[in-house]
Amino acid sequence: MIHMKDIELTNKRVFIRLDLNVPIDKNKITSSERIDRSIPTIQLALKKNARILLASHLGRPKEGEYNKRFSLFPVFQYLKKKLPTVDIIFSQNYLNGIQIQPNQIVLLENVRFNCGETKNNTHLAKKYAQLCDVFVMDAFATAHRVESSTHGICDFVKTACIGPLLYSEIKILKNILNKPKRPMVTIIGGAKVSTKFKLLSSLLKITDTMLVGGGIANTFISLFHSVGKSLHEKNFHKQAKKLYSSNKILFPSDSRVSTSYSEQAQATVKPISQISDNEEILDIGDKTIDNYEKIINTAKTILWNGPMGVFEFPNFRKGTEKIARAIANHSALSVSGGGDTIAVIDLFDLKKKISYISTGGGAFLEFIENKTLPVIERLKRFKNK
Ligand code: AMP
Repeated sequence: MIHMKDIELTNKRVFIRLDLNVPIDKNKITSSERIDRSIPTIQLALKKNARILLASHLGRPKEGEYNKRFSLFPVFQYLKKKLPTVDIIFSQNYLNGIQIQPNQIVLLENVRFNCGETKNNTHLAKKYAQLCDVFVMDAFATAHRVESSTHGICDFVKTACIGPLLYSEIKILKNILNKPKRPMVTIIGGAKVSTKFKLLSSLLKITDTMLVGGGIANTFISLFHSVGKSLHEKNFHKQAKKLYSSNKILFPSDSRVSTSYSEQAQATVKPISQISDNEEILDIGDKTIDNYEKIINTAKTILWNGPMGVFEFPNFRKGTEKIARAIANHSALSVSGGGDTIAVIDLFDLKKKISYISTGGGAFLEFIENKTLPVIERLKRFKNK
């Protein structure tokens, strides 16, 4: 792949696909994390005297329709504050061409307002390509999606390269997947085995031990014990057995249970062999927490995705909090990603203590499953002349 840092961009029109998909509430950005992580890429383009076009999606608007709720305008205002000496403009109407000066930045309105974006429409991809001389892909969180501004554009540009943020995400993930320092301990929580089956299968080939929690653990527990009315997948027993035969999976020995799924419900800790028909497992128990903490403390590499229970309810948050803190406080290289995992890290303010937090949710999981992503394969076809 060609790297953005290695190519000449002076006076060139550079279309940089970023992930500026930040949460916005009443016109206010509630977490600027994704914009902040993209600033070094923008600064690199400025240093190289490029004419800069920034593109991103925001949310899931109805294609072909403008909707203020999904406008990138608040991102434009944030960028102007963050880069006060830079000439930045905002463009809503750009598909038929746009004037741009060296060292100027044009932030393009949400690409998902354009008809065909998410379907990787060829006509739209060609229009994006006509706006630029070079395409830079730097949106890891969207890199698993084959869309006009992430993938299709590559078919019509002369030069396409990888941006620094996408490159660093992939490098770290590749390192951990190809040569992890051992022992490697993987912690997987969340709701269902079925949605993470490929992820679990791929990770079991690499990891030394896998600790499971959440609804995922319930399915493994249900291979041996009754789990009452807990969330679990009976019709996934065959696949769960196959995963379990790796001898690398450890599931909880006790659980925090309740007779109702609610924030007010009384939580009781019970061995997993004593769950009644009217009870459901909503978190891991205290013995399990102790045991998981001990195992985490032996790790040299940690990979973590998913909560250990219903962390949204304070009464069933203890397992997730303790395990998150154990990961954060241990000196091993720790890598985490996936929507709810980032929410957990934010909730307990552990961001600074995790070695690497991936910006991608689906892309993070898909990269682990396949060790590549469609756009990465596409970018490999461009060679630096
Ligand atoms: P996922 O997107 O697969 O990582 O799942 C995250 C969701 O799983 C969170 O919203 C949790 O509340 C939920 N979850 C975790 N453990 C349990 C459980 N034991 N029972 C029901 N839901 C759970």
